[in-house]
Amino acid sequence: MTIVPIRYVEPVFRPPSEADSLILPVTDGCSWNQCTFCEMYTAPQKRFRPRSEEEVLESIRRRSEKFGKTIKRVFLADGDAMTLSVRRLATVLDAIRRDLPGVRRVSSYCLPRNVRKKSAAELRELADLVCRLSMSAPNPATTKCWRGSTRAKVSPQRGRRSKAARSGN
Ligand code: SF4
Repeated sequence: MTIVPIRYVEPVFRPPSEADSLILPVTDGCSWNQCTFCEMYTAPQKRFRPRSEEEVLESIRRRSEKFGKTIKRVFLADGDAMTLSVRRLATVLDAIRRDLPGVRRVSSYCLPRNVRKKSAAELRELADLVCRLSMSAPNPATTKCWRGSTRAKVSPQRGRRSKAARSGN
């Protein structure tokens, strides 16, 4: 019998900075999913839902059986892992620390609002459990302004319309 160590739901996205990372889904899809320039998680099978704690912990355990200390980095997928509660994130990070002792960095995409909902002490607690990097997604408040803009007129990196778009070119 073939044992699938991690259940991936296509399409799976690997950020360029995570070329060598283990992609570990803790949710499917993005909890916001309304940025006008983004189609990453619009497929029906990517409807947002957190994965069960049992499934995530089992995925980590099975990876550890095969790759143990060789995994150095983990990316928590999909589009907004920080939407999970501190307790859920801490449980996942604790399991990574225990079962994948070679890991030195855990990262994820996140919405600023989901960071804002966590206190400084809670974020420190997560950082102490090896979560060293978060990659911000656009602010939903800003993103609302982009509705109706074309993809070419939007500057997602800066969260505002590009100079060409402002001048009407
Ligand atoms: S928050 Fe990120 S993943 Fe979600 S819709 Fe916007 S760009 Fe896409």
